[in-house]
Amino acid sequence: MAKPTIVCVDDDTEVLGAIERDLRQHYRNEFRLIKASSGREGLEVATQLKQRGQSIALFLADQRMPEMSGTEFLTEAIKLHPDACKVLLTAYADTEAAIVSINKINLDHYLMKPWDPPEEKLYPVLDDLLSKWSMRVRLPFDGIRVAGTRFSPQSFEVKDFLSRNQVPYQWVDIDEDAPTRELVSSMEGGLSKLPVVLFPDGSHLTVPTTLELAEKAGLQIRANRPFYDLVIVGGGPAGLANAVYGASEGLRTLLVEQKAFGGQAGTSSRIENYLGFPAGITGADLAQRATAQARRFGAEMLTAQEVVSLRREDPYRIVKLSDGTEISSFTVLISTGMEVKKLEVPGIEPLIGIGVYYGAALSEAATYRGHDICIVGGANSAGQGALFFSRYARKVTMLVRAANLSPSMSMYLVERIQATKNIEVINKVEVASVSGTEKLEHIDVRNVETGKEDRLDASAMFIFIGAAPRSDMVAGVLERDEKGFILTGPDLPRTARGIRSWNLERDPYLFETNIPGVFAAGDIRASANRRVAAAVGEGSAAIYTIHRYLQTV
Ligand SMILES: Cc1cc2nc3c(=O)[nH]c(=O)nc-3n(C[C@H](O)[C@H](O)[C@H](O)COP(=O)(O)OP(=O)(O)OC[C@H]3O[C@@H](n4cnc5c(N)ncnc54)[C@H](O)[C@@H]3O)c2cc1C
Repeated sequence: MAKPTIVCVDDDTEVLGAIERDLRQHYRNEFRLIKASSGREGLEVATQLKQRGQSIALFLADQRMPEMSGTEFLTEAIKLHPDACKVLLTAYADTEAAIVSINKINLDHYLMKPWDPPEEKLYPVLDDLLSKWSMRVRLPFDGIRVAGTRFSPQSFEVKDFLSRNQVPYQWVDIDEDAPTRELVSSMEGGLSKLPVVLFPDGSHLTVPTTLELAEKAGLQIRANRPFYDLVIVGGGPAGLANAVYGASEGLRTLLVEQKAFGGQAGTSSRIENYLGFPAGITGADLAQRATAQARRFGAEMLTAQEVVSLRREDPYRIVKLSDGTEISSFTVLISTGMEVKKLEVPGIEPLIGIGVYYGAALSEAATYRGHDICIVGGANSAGQGALFFSRYARKVTMLVRAANLSPSMSMYLVERIQATKNIEVINKVEVASVSGTEKLEHIDVRNVETGKEDRLDASAMFIFIGAAPRSDMVAGVLERDEKGFILTGPDLPRTARGIRSWNLERDPYLFETNIPGVFAAGDIRASANRRVAAAVGEGSAAIYTIHRYLQTV
């Protein structure tokens, strides 16, 4: 945590030097001292410190400055640092101005020049002010701050990206924090471009892309080598397990993840059926542990990079990233999993990120503390979501198309939902439409048997209505089933001319696709058992066949 600062402002270099010397002698262990030779310079210092999230404990300004008087300076400076103590340095003739300032800007003290001896005339007054300041003020958060408005899709994107990548940040709602609002409005783009992400080094990004944000937050976004033994596409449980085994067995391994390591499992509030964790484990914890493990074995892990295509230039396999970069390797594992299906109902598009969320947007839980929310869906992920949000929301209503929960939800979740007082389950319904002016306000639900519609008031709606495979980037290259899942090994279709694109004598290995050296594991693979343990198992087991392939190139 940076020391709080004392800012002295005076255009008279001799006076400025003297006050700085005296203050440094007495306060250097607890405070940082910055001097400015004009009000304008003083305001620049105040703005920079605000951007870095650092506190100013005291402004000490000379009343007599030609461009901007001490009072004028303090009037502006306290808009940025309203908690700072305000002291004017005055000559006898300025007493009148100082008294006016006491009323106008709530001046804490005016100090007559000269202040000798400081032990009598300077330190006692300032000691008193600064000790009261220390008791009153909580030192600010010293890391990344995201400044935006509560109901903004862009702010949600940034918060979700940072929290899913386990980058600590502080959320600042500018509607509730006047100094940060002042700071943001003074920046280029002002209040019309939100959120603004403020970094501890004083720099900022306005409405950043995930790639810009990842780079600035210190996440790896570019590969260190031009060539690898193994490139893994997708950092869910299957990809992470593959990276751990690949790197630990000496392969030059690169994992490319579009959003955040952990995949779907990373968004789970509690995984209770994963071997070895009898009390369950949060998806974030599992993702963090697996990522650390893969890195420890030397796997390179890129975040915020999407693979857009795959091609074959024997003996190399080449993946292309959305920024145009190409990476070559001998083998590729596709573990791109699935994503939540989109709910297509009237009114939904403009409310995404401002009340309507796909999956468990865990970063939003605090926003909806004490509110009424809805969960759409009746499978395990919806059940976990309902239980998680029931800890924050006043009431959670589950909207389920089936006549009861049990056919698609594990019994342990059904029992827990039934035992949770603030969860209500409405069966045989579907969402007909959603509405709200600046954020979600109402959900119209339709009974699937009678067609009758009812309106529910809700602040948020979290959607868990099943998932679709993410395999567009290999369309036309790898064999897929009619739903888009990638076919491997014995599942690959054969014609009289054999398997499409296959040019080897042997049959494809288990997990191998129709292109030799390109493998698929986890939820994206046709006939996979879509569970965390299964994905981890497939990702781990695929390494064996990857080794067998590598012995032939
Ligand atoms: C909310 C929720 C709760 C769940 N709870 C449980 C549970 O309790 N127990 C259980 O067994 N299972 C649970 N599941 C299912 C389980 O999470 C999945 O089966 C598992 O995560 C599949 O792992 P995967 O690695 O195959 O794919 P995913 O987890 O889907 O990971 C795929 C990754 O690939 C990335 N990706 C996709 N396309 C690209 C691209 N082009 N370029 C780069 N990266 C890309 C994605 O961003 C993602 O991170 C849950 C699922 C959800 C959604």
